[in-house]
Amino acid sequence: MRIGTGWDIHPLVPGRKLLLGGVEIPHDRGESGHSDGDVLLHAIIDALFGALAIGDIGTHFPPSDDRWKDISSIELLRSALDLLDGHTIGNIDCTVILQRPKLMPHIDAIRNSIASVCDIPYASVSVKAKTAEGLLGELGTGNAVIAQVVVLLHEGATDTIGNLDDWV
Ligand code: MG
Repeated sequence: MRIGTGWDIHPLVPGRKLLLGGVEIPHDRGESGHSDGDVLLHAIIDALFGALAIGDIGTHFPPSDDRWKDISSIELLRSALDLLDGHTIGNIDCTVILQRPKLMPHIDAIRNSIASVCDIPYASVSVKAKTAEGLLGELGTGNAVIAQVVVLLHEGATDTIGNLDDWV
């Protein structure tokens, strides 16, 4: 087995969609970013790359490359999943830190979305929501969102890691 962690933060600004795990959350602001800014999917991607020790989201999808501008982070996650050749996801545990809006009504949709894209059972995806209790500067004033993720991968054929060396 291999384990990976991912972490990401994005500013929240008016005129952008708030996307979490591929689900649009109704709000008066959303993540700014080079891609669609889905902070949760970015943290999942980094956790997957971390588990395989093949760099990070910036290594694979550099913001200097216009191919990734405004791209759906679901497409980025699909590209990351293509690199798991020979590995399968055991489970994904996520925490989203967002002052507002309340995420509880959207948790099931987010879990379903992640499970669908990753082709794993709903029960293998955990999404927990926290506020910043008004603390931590921009996070507590609702001007930023953080996601942190842990993934567990089951190892497959050992030669798959070698195939990934081109990406490092
Ligand atoms: Mg990001």
